[in-house]
Amino acid sequence: MQIAENLKKIKSSLPQNVKLVAVSKFKPNQDILEAYQAGHTIFGENRVQELTEKYEQLPKDIEWHMIGHLQTNKVKYIAPFVYMIHGVDSLKLLKEINKQAKKAERIQKCLLQIHIADEETKFGFSEEEVFELLSSDAYKGFENIEICGVMGMATNTDNTEQVRQEFAHLKQFFDTLKQDYFAYQESFAEISMGMSGDYETAVAEGSTMVRIGSSIFGSRN
Ligand SMILES: *Cc1c(COP(=O)(O)O)cnc(C)c1O
Repeated sequence: MQIAENLKKIKSSLPQNVKLVAVSKFKPNQDILEAYQAGHTIFGENRVQELTEKYEQLPKDIEWHMIGHLQTNKVKYIAPFVYMIHGVDSLKLLKEINKQAKKAERIQKCLLQIHIADEETKFGFSEEEVFELLSSDAYKGFENIEICGVMGMATNTDNTEQVRQEFAHLKQFFDTLKQDYFAYQESFAEISMGMSGDYETAVAEGSTMVRIGSSIFGSRN
């Protein structure tokens, strides 16, 4: 019951336009089913094998989001079913996603992961790299890709003001991309930012999609 209660509480605190991706990584199917039975159908995972197994075992109307770093050689396992890929961080990866989506006869929704944190360890494009990508001929040929927005992870710090600034920066960058590259694409609309520890700040700065794990399912071992 705890999971359903946590979900309800978080959902009621989110504005209507903000989607909740329940991050179920490392959690058993039973926990996911509890959330599902409470009416939640959007889940996020960060490892391909775990995601694929859960997809096979759980109800087929679940919308699965791949939120973690994705290796090129593993795209083929999730391309037939994954709803959205949040962590796109290279041209090479995008090329493979396009290839596998074509094979699966799908248009794959993707988010461009932007490096906004002040930590070297986090993945993501620089802003300059995104401009380069979107202007490239290779990108223009990707017929089975739909870029739906951006994703970012703030620095893991207690400094709320720094986190706020990083999220504000991502929102600003989204607005720039929208205006300069996606003005006529309605589906370019998502800003995936905010986790258990910082989602309230993210929402205040314009997040449209939060990825929340431990506040719903409890801490992971
Ligand atoms: C694990 C994870 C989350 C959720 O983290 P919590 O702190 O448990 O809410 C969000 N985004 C990504 C990319 C993650 O890997």
